[in-house]
Amino acid sequence: MEQLAIFGGTPVRETTICYGRQCIQEDDIAAVAETLRSNLITCGPRVTQFEQELCEYTGAKYAVVVSNGTAALHLAALAAEIGPGDEVIVSSITFAASSNSVLYCGGTPVFADINPETYNIDPASIRKLITPKTKAVVAVDFTGQATELDEIRAICKEHNLILIEDAAHSIGTKYKGQDVGSIADMTCFSFHPVKTITAGEGGAITTNDEALYRKLLRLRTHGITRNPDEMAHPTDDPWYQEQVDLGYNYRMTDFQAALLISQLHKLPAFSARRKEIVAMYDQAFADVPEIFVQKEIPESDTTRHLYIIRLNLDMLNCTRREFFDAMSAEHVQPQVHYLPVYWHSYYEKLGYQKGLCPEAEKLYSEIMSIPLYPALTDAEVQDTITAVKKVVAYYRK
Ligand SMILES: *Cc1c(COP(=O)(O)O)cnc(C)c1O
Repeated sequence: MEQLAIFGGTPVRETTICYGRQCIQEDDIAAVAETLRSNLITCGPRVTQFEQELCEYTGAKYAVVVSNGTAALHLAALAAEIGPGDEVIVSSITFAASSNSVLYCGGTPVFADINPETYNIDPASIRKLITPKTKAVVAVDFTGQATELDEIRAICKEHNLILIEDAAHSIGTKYKGQDVGSIADMTCFSFHPVKTITAGEGGAITTNDEALYRKLLRLRTHGITRNPDEMAHPTDDPWYQEQVDLGYNYRMTDFQAALLISQLHKLPAFSARRKEIVAMYDQAFADVPEIFVQKEIPESDTTRHLYIIRLNLDMLNCTRREFFDAMSAEHVQPQVHYLPVYWHSYYEKLGYQKGLCPEAEKLYSEIMSIPLYPALTDAEVQDTITAVKKVVAYYRK
């Protein structure tokens, strides 16, 4: 058997590939440069244009672009009027920002367990956690796969809860033929460089509710409005603006929006390439019983952000850590998404304890994400498959 690189063998690749990276081309750079030469470099025409195009793409009525995905989640939580005493049910396997947004508002995150096959929030777990204090649900489209939106919307309707969809992973995904962004009360996107389209840093919230939209717009810029209908003391003074809420500066620059417009135009191509790579991996791992792959629900037409392999540790003579280190030594650098949020020491200090979500904790101990991004070549995909199979073969019981 071929020796693993970690024990002195030859690595599958000479150079290292990572789990994700942006795809920026010359026309993206030209769009940014053009905007930098224009008059308005923030709050200008590109921000408005991107908001319109995002509405057209997702089918949402309104879009508000902000400085990052975390700001999007924060403003959505504020617009949902989450405050002290309110409980918000949040996916347990997600980036910390999903639940930090609840803490920013003084609310209490309550962590729901996941479905062990799809890795998305389990609607049955949501039901069990509802109390008279529950105000909202933050459901994450983990890895890009749409969460079970019909079931979750029905639960929210029944209990009068606001549904915030954390779609940081899922731009380009459809649920029952409908684009993510037009389904939940508010949908939050991230345009961080590892995400499917990027602004360097950026985010957006989409909604079909005009009142929420107006509020999000104000909160993005200090809670200040120019709209007399929203003022306590409207005047006809042309300079007059009024601060009616406590908002933030969560604006995005116009040159970032220019980059995003260029990226959005490439989303169909990015999405197609991500699907091709996912299909190659799925096929390659179909006959490897030591590896589980994520189950797709038929309702989701997924633009995958992350490709996760889950180790069947009963069939392997190694730990997840040993597998991870062996992959790194083969120069296919994995990453783990994510630690159950409430395992972070900050949450531990708030009183959350281990054991809360057994399926999430088990998943965390068995997974790693392997490279998935549009610029990955077929040869690099093959190297990744070779590396996984080589490590599996070495540690096979
Ligand atoms: C990336 C991410 C965020 C935060 O987005 P930023 O743009 O980095 O602030 C929120 N939720 C999830 C699930 C993410 O992956």
